Amino acid sequence: AKISQHPNYGFAQRDRDSWPTTRDCIDRRLARAFEMGEFVLHYQPQIDMVTGRIGGVEVLVRWLDSERGLVYPSQFMPVAERTGLIIAIGRWIIQEACRQVAVWRREGHDSLPVAINVSAMEFHHPHFVPFVREVLHETGIDPSDLELEFTESVLMHEPELSMTHLQQLRDIGVRLAMDDFGSGESSLRYLNRFPIDTLKIDKCLMEGVTADPATSVVLRSLVAMGKDLKRRLVAEGVETAHQLGFVQTQLFDVAQGFRFGYPQTSEDFSRLLEKEH
Ligand code: C2E
Ligand code: CA
Ligand code: CA
Ligand code: CA
Repeated sequence: AKISQHPNYGFAQRDRDSWPTTRDCIDRRLARAFEMGEFVLHYQPQIDMVTGRIGGVEVLVRWLDSERGLVYPSQFMPVAERTGLIIAIGRWIIQEACRQVAVWRREGHDSLPVAINVSAMEFHHPHFVPFVREVLHETGIDPSDLELEFTESVLMHEPELSMTHLQQLRDIGVRLAMDDFGSGESSLRYLNRFPIDTLKIDKCLMEGVTADPATSVVLRSLVAMGKDLKRRLVAEGVETAHQLGFVQTQLFDVAQGFRFGYPQTSEDFSRLLEKEH
């Protein structure tokens, strides 16, 4: 009797009971959303800093929920990773993105490499590399028109297996990028060991670029290192004129950010390509 009079008792009890049901519910909802085809891919332009034209595109997944509208990956990818649904979603993303690139190719656009984010569970799956090979074959796109992006934490999660898969992908001719380079999570220890073509400098570092050149010391040394290692350098999160100026003076190869274009539907992206033509 004493316990039930405790002001928190009822609440704590209810909370504990309802948690697994809630989690189950979210898991099922996401799986259902995927089955129902509620996921969409958005495409963000990557600007070739030499030509000033669209030189590639990064694919970003969204969930178009009937109640909530556009839901961003930070809201559902952790769930997909926990339940393993990421394997199916990831495959769909790679297939869909490669098909889209094939369509743009057929419409007469120059080669438009597509960059796809890959999470740890997907990448370390034993069928990942054969699957990529299969999709390239099926869509007929050039392996060098596919770039796979990994964060360092993905690679470091299983360094040996990562190395094996990276080498296999490289043998196929797929391009490999290190995402979020220079973010808190990245260490420089393995940079030289992994066969990576591209370094995508984290947008948090880009945020620090202001009129004052002293603010970007770290960024400038990362760029120098990337150049030394002969990696392709991509700046992400470019929004302001200052940032663009920095990217130009530091001779980045590619820039990406709201300044050049938002992630958008394939239809909108097609129009963007037409306009540039
Ligand atoms: P990320 O790969 O680092 O993607 C860049 C994020 O920055 C995207 O957020 C993009 O919309 C946003 N962004 C682009 N330009 C700018 C800019 O100028 N300023 C700012 N502030 N942000 C910009 P998004 O789409 O919400 O994706 C977040 C993260 O979710 C991605 O980070 C990536 O790690 C993950 N993700 C997105 N799509 C996929 C996917 O298809 N597969 C997997 N495995 N992960 C994905
Ligand atoms: Ca990325
Ligand atoms: Ca990134
Ligand atoms: Ca990120």
